[in-house]
Amino acid sequence: MRIGVDIDGVVSDSYPAWLQELNRHYGKNITVLEDYEMHLVFDVPWDDMNDFFVENVDHLLSMPKPVPGAREGIESLRREGHEVIFVTARRPEEEKVTLKWLEKYEIPHETVLFSGFKSKVDLVKQWQLEAFVEDHLANARGISALGVPVLLLTTSYNRGKLPAGVTRCATWTEMVTVLRQLASG
Ligand SMILES: [Mg+2]
Repeated sequence: MRIGVDIDGVVSDSYPAWLQELNRHYGKNITVLEDYEMHLVFDVPWDDMNDFFVENVDHLLSMPKPVPGAREGIESLRREGHEVIFVTARRPEEEKVTLKWLEKYEIPHETVLFSGFKSKVDLVKQWQLEAFVEDHLANARGISALGVPVLLLTTSYNRGKLPAGVTRCATWTEMVTVLRQLASG
C-alpha cells in the first residue's frame, strides 16, 4: 500500500514542544492544547503567532522529539513492503530542517511532500495514496471524503465525532495493526 503520513503531531511530537515555547513567548501557562488552532488557544492574532514561528522556525522544527513508536512503526510498514510518503503542511522552505530532523532521529524517508499550509487533498490524489495517517480532524475529513481511509492519532485537540472512513488510534502500534488490516483487504 502507498501510505501518506503527516509529520507534525504524528511523527514529530511538535505540539507539546511548541506549547512550551509559546508559553514562554506569551508569558502564559497553558498545559493542554484543546484546539488545533494555537492562536485561538493563546488568544493572539494568527499573524502574530505566524511571525513567531517564521522568526524561530529552525529552532521550533528541530526541538521536538519523535512521537513514541513512530520510527518503529514506519520501519515495520516499509519492511512489510508498504511505501511511506510523508505529506506535511510545512512550507517548501522548511525542507532542509525537516530532512535534517528525520535523519537525526533515523526515521526512514524517501519522499517528503510540502503542501505549504494548503490542503493535502490534492497531494493525496496526485500521489494516489491508499491510506493516510493524520492528527488534524479537518485534514482527516477532507482526505476521507476522497474515499481514502484515514487513521487519526488521538491527541488533546482532535477529540470529537469522526466522519466515516476515519479510524481513531491511540498509538502507533495500533495504527500499524489497522494499516495491516486495510492492506489485507
Ligand atoms: Mg499534523
